[in-house]
Amino acid sequence: MLRCDTFPAVNHKKRIAVIPGDGIGKEVIPQAVKAIEAANAPVELSYFDWGADRYLADGVTVPPDGFAMLARDFDAILAGAFGDHRVPSNVHAREILLGMRFKMDLYANVRPVKLLDAALCPLKGVGPKDIDFVVIRENTEGVYGDLGGVFKQGTPDEIATQEDINTRKGVERIIRYAFDYCERHAKLDGSPRRWVLMCDKSNAMTHAGSLWQRTFKEVAREYPQINSEHMYVDALCMQMVRDPRQFEVIVTNNMFGDIITDLAAGLQGGLGVAASGNIHPGKTSMFEPVHGSAPQIAGKNLANPFGAILTAAMMLGHLGLSSEEKRIEAAVLAAVQQKKLTQDVGGSLGTKEAGEWIANRMGHDFTEI
Ligand code: ATP
Repeated sequence: MLRCDTFPAVNHKKRIAVIPGDGIGKEVIPQAVKAIEAANAPVELSYFDWGADRYLADGVTVPPDGFAMLARDFDAILAGAFGDHRVPSNVHAREILLGMRFKMDLYANVRPVKLLDAALCPLKGVGPKDIDFVVIRENTEGVYGDLGGVFKQGTPDEIATQEDINTRKGVERIIRYAFDYCERHAKLDGSPRRWVLMCDKSNAMTHAGSLWQRTFKEVAREYPQINSEHMYVDALCMQMVRDPRQFEVIVTNNMFGDIITDLAAGLQGGLGVAASGNIHPGKTSMFEPVHGSAPQIAGKNLANPFGAILTAAMMLGHLGLSSEEKRIEAAVLAAVQQKKLTQDVGGSLGTKEAGEWIANRMGHDFTEI
């Protein structure tokens, strides 16, 4: 991995920081890069070796000024996964991944849930037209702020607290992002999105729930053309399995968003195919597949690269390169339809072979790479 902590020259190309990270991140991101190159996207890629290997080698998680450098010198970041059992408590993953989300204030975690082929969905009688929604997850607050503590540790009287932080500013901006997203995006078939559903657990988490409920109602009034709805998170989980057709845009807090998007990934074919973006409109945003480092399958050419490749497409779309985004999405769809798949979704290809198939489909031959 090329270590690059310097800045690329400014030119007309979109400047992308690529951080493959750990585990399968190091396998799937090269396939995403092949797809970007095969799409002839006008980008300039700079690689960074932030991750467990570097941390274990020199103790650096993020170089001084790292986040400011990313925000200043890049249009977007393409990241793989962070997590390695050799690093106690995965401190590097926390500092790199949560560091980007929190310190760069990437408050909207946008996770599209699109079924590409009925064969990928574990539900009976459900096809692509039935699963096409997006989860907008608050990405900078909630229980992820590491506030709280342990008292009387190791004694029978031990107490642990984990604070759930919800600010009016944070809740309002993510809800407004969801309504704006709903307004901007049509569904796959071109029909408009008309619903924003807010999911919480306000019957149990009454204080935070009250803030979410009041804010949701107030913001919804600014969008009279969009319907608003509410579900408790437990009911939502059941409904996502019973009838996923009903959802269009779901907005929720950090932890519920984390949990329901694993369930949603299951509806799409598993973690290997799910894409996501960590976005702050107008600022350098970061794109990463939903899955983590998956150490059990890392280094074996088993990981499904589709989530990372679709994440790269999403990043290009975010940067205004929508024809390149669509070319990549079309190639992934063709791979799914022609069963050019990795083992996790019922195929026999390796990570590299699946990535090469997609790149070749877009007109480039990467078989020698
Ligand atoms: P981390 O600690 O980094 O979150 P993890 O293994 O706990 O890693 P994930 O990486 O999200 O969590 O994966 C959970 C499981 O899902 C993996 O062990 C693997 O079986 C499967 N999985 C995840 N991503 C992929 C992928 N791209 N291709 C195939 N299987 C995957």
